Amino acid sequence: MLEVRGLVLGYGATPVLEGVDLRVGEGEFVSLVGPSGSGKSTLLRVIAGLLRPQVGEVRRAFPLEALGFLFQEDALLPWRTARENVALGLRIRGLPRRKALEEAEAWLRRLGLEGLGDRYPHQLSGGQRKRVALAQVLALRPRLLLMDEPFASLDAILRTQVTRDLLALVEGEGIAVLLVTHDLEEALALADRVYLLSKGPRARIAEVYPVTLPR
Ligand code: ADP
Ligand code: ADP
Repeated sequence: MLEVRGLVLGYGATPVLEGVDLRVGEGEFVSLVGPSGSGKSTLLRVIAGLLRPQVGEVRRAFPLEALGFLFQEDALLPWRTARENVALGLRIRGLPRRKALEEAEAWLRRLGLEGLGDRYPHQLSGGQRKRVALAQVLALRPRLLLMDEPFASLDAILRTQVTRDLLALVEGEGIAVLLVTHDLEEALALADRVYLLSKGPRARIAEVYPVTLPR
């Protein structure tokens, strides 16, 4: 559903990605691992259509609106309740307010946040806020979910819980995932396939190595 081929990209004269190939199949959970500065965010930006590659191509078998994003910093509006935050995207998509709020409530329930819909973000724990942010993204029914270190701020136990729940949900919904992380162990534990993005021996020239691993 997503194919990146022969991607070459740099900022100005500085090369970052050179000859990167990457593929995400229907419903696949793929992880992209690399050290800080290796070009992970840059690659995500290209996939999201925010940056144009100098060479190479990105093929998506779905419209850009079917892309979901989850970043380290969540995008919850502080002056909106959890339910309203989840409903917001649905309203932007044209759902009437009442229907959007109903659907938002259903997603909060699926993420184990029953009874917390009326709380404002600052009245929620870090783990709960992450779940609200997830509900916000999943409510828009993405075909591919791009995540950039989404749970980095959570402690290890919470992170495992949230990630497990996320895995169950995306599997159930048939959503493909591209998870960017610098944690190889996490990637190996979660993903169907892992890509390693390396800096290479010389300055900022990266290569991606696909590795097939048993789940
Ligand atoms: P990662 O996400 O793996 O940490 P990035 O994709 O953010 O890596 O960055 C890759 C390289 O490109 C880094 O050396 C970074 O300094 C550089 N870089 C990122 N964004 C820009 C930009 N907008 N302008 C110039 N250089 C950038
Ligand atoms: P509505 O669509 O219901 O009128 P708004 O989003 O316009 O809601 O505003 C809801 C509340 O959030 C208001 O009290 C408003 O002052 C506050 N608010 C709106 N935008 C911001 C902002 N950028 N920063 C802080 N508060 C804001």
